[in-house]
Amino acid sequence: MSQLLSVIQLGNPILRQKAKEVENIQDEKIQQLVDDLILTVADANGVGIASPQVGESYRIFIVASRPNPRYPNAPEMEPTAMINPRIIAHKSEIVKGWEGCLSIPGIRGLVPRYQTIKVEYFDRNGQLQTRQFTDFISRIFQHEIDHLNGVVFVDRLESTLDIVTEQEYQNRILSNN
Ligand code: ZN
Repeated sequence: MSQLLSVIQLGNPILRQKAKEVENIQDEKIQQLVDDLILTVADANGVGIASPQVGESYRIFIVASRPNPRYPNAPEMEPTAMINPRIIAHKSEIVKGWEGCLSIPGIRGLVPRYQTIKVEYFDRNGQLQTRQFTDFISRIFQHEIDHLNGVVFVDRLESTLDIVTEQEYQNRILSNN
């Protein structure tokens, strides 16, 4: 049975720690955590969640892109657990795009990210996967891997002028896209 986990918020020191590698992916506790994270991110209308956000400092995150009220234009992707992930290469193009975070409710920021990245991660069955991601999925991956290193999106902003409230984002920015 999966259970909903509570999401910790900015100010909690766990969000600023470097998370530890997962040594045994088949461990029952890790498999349960993956199930719980998948349920929790869906419940919160998120497109990704990292394990430290539920107070478990492991190098695990879920990418679960799909259109929802917080991200109406998100592409559809099966919720995927990525364990001990790494960015192994990236193209030079950097694009700015709006991000929010379940641990920083109420604001959005315009964050520069690599448009295209090549990554490696272990799936929940312990198989090594190599993938190339672009645009929104690439953005989610970079946002989530930052969480494993104690970094949050506001650290990446070029200017405080690139912060808006969630309400302004919903009312003004989304409706102009
Ligand atoms: Zn986040």
